[in-house]
Parts: sequence; structure tokens; C-alpha cells
Amino acid sequence: MSITFDNVSKKYNNDYVALDEVSFVIKPNEFVSIVGPSGAGKTTLLRMLLAEERPTHGRVLLHDIDIHLLSGKDINFVRRKIGAVFQDFRLLPHKNVYENIAFAMEAAGRPDEEIESDVPHVLELVDLGSKIWNFPHELSGGEKQRVAIARAIVNQPDIIIADEPTGNLDPVNTYDIVQILKKINNLGTTVILTTHNKGVIDSIGRRVITIQDGRIVRDDMTGKYIL
Ligand code: ADP
Repeated sequence: MSITFDNVSKKYNNDYVALDEVSFVIKPNEFVSIVGPSGAGKTTLLRMLLAEERPTHGRVLLHDIDIHLLSGKDINFVRRKIGAVFQDFRLLPHKNVYENIAFAMEAAGRPDEEIESDVPHVLELVDLGSKIWNFPHELSGGEKQRVAIARAIVNQPDIIIADEPTGNLDPVNTYDIVQILKKINNLGTTVILTTHNKGVIDSIGRRVITIQDGRIVRDDMTGKYIL
């Protein structure tokens, strides 16, 4: 499923221009990093892709569908095509690892048999099978992020958005999370990553879009972090 930003601008109420005529196409199964200083507009861009914010001008297309023209029910369908991972993990603290992932499957209307078979499977994929009955407070930051990734992929989305997923992690865990995102990409999922971590960008060696003051200032197919 391709993603197209066609001349997208976003002005907030205070007239602040967070994105200014941003255009790009992400092809199916690309791994794209979005970099730029704090306040550049990265989160705004991702929120528009998740249909949490509307563009002031321009269009955001998934395949050939303008997602901002869809009504509520259809938007939910589109959101199921996208899994999201955040810096602060966003796990449910009173549910164990199994239940955190099962909850996302229940919300998508998946039957019990699939939940029972897919949760252990997806935890193996992120190398966390041994923690299935643990609660979030019993996990390290890297383990929490692996649960969040498992939850994001369990409904087989076409696209994974990872917004600063390694922002709270040490270098070893950062490396592991990047390896897992690469593995998911190799299995056929588009990955869009935002990060401030120069080492992460340079080690991935894939496309890098650089944003500054709401504008794309670079778009390199085998990018390095240059600012
Ligand atoms: P980044 O993720 O690159 O740090 P953001 O997309 O969060 O940048 O923010 C881009 C700019 O838009 C910032 O200057 C921020 O203050 C502003 N902004 C973000 N969200 C809002 C909002 N809801 N209302 C007003 N201004 C906002």
C-alpha cells in the first residue's frame, strides 16, 4: 500500500505553520526514516497519516484513497492498516503481556482461536516468548518496546509507524529494536521511523527524509543523518 503526501500543509489555530507544502511518495515495503530537529513537524506528519489531524491544504493518500475524505467507520478500516509504536510504549499497566496484545486483536474483532495462536507467535517474532505472563512493570524498557511492536504488528498492518521508538532506550536495546523493525520490513511491511539518533539512521542505510521548519529539505535514497 503506497503512501502519498500531495502538497500537504498544516496550520494550527494560532496560525503556526507546522507543515508547509510537503510532498512525497512512499512505495510499498519501503523503510523510511524521518529526521529533523524538535518542532520540525515529524509528529504532525505522522498524526496526519493516522488521520488524527487534518491537513489545512493538500491530500494524504493511502493507495489511491484520500483518507481525510473518509467517514468514521472507513477511517477505522484505514487505521487497521497501520500499526503504531511510540517512545513511551503505551502499554496497559494492569494487563499482562498476553492481554496487552490480545486486547488489540479483540478490538479488531479477531476470534478467540486466532488470539490464542497468534499472540505467542508474534511474541516469538520479537524474541519475548518467555515474558508472556509478565506485567509491564516487570519488563525492561527494551522489552516493553518489543511488546508494543508485537501489538502493532499482530493484526498484520501494511504499515508500521515508529515515532521515536528508541528515545527511552540504551544503545543495546536501541540496536535490538532497530533489528526487529528491519526484520518486520523484510517480512513485507512498510516501516516509517522517526528518530533523533544519528547512529540508528546511519546503520539502517535506507531512505531518509529530512524536515526542517515544516519543509522537506532532503530526501535521500540511502541517507545519512545530515543536519
Ligand atoms: P516534531 O515532532 O518534529 O518535534 P511537531 O510535529 O510535534 O514536531 O510540531 C511541529 C510544530 O507544530 C511545533 O512548533 C509545535 O509547537 C507545533 N504544534 C504541534 N502540535 C500543535 C497543536 N496541537 N497546536 C498548536 N501547535 C502545535
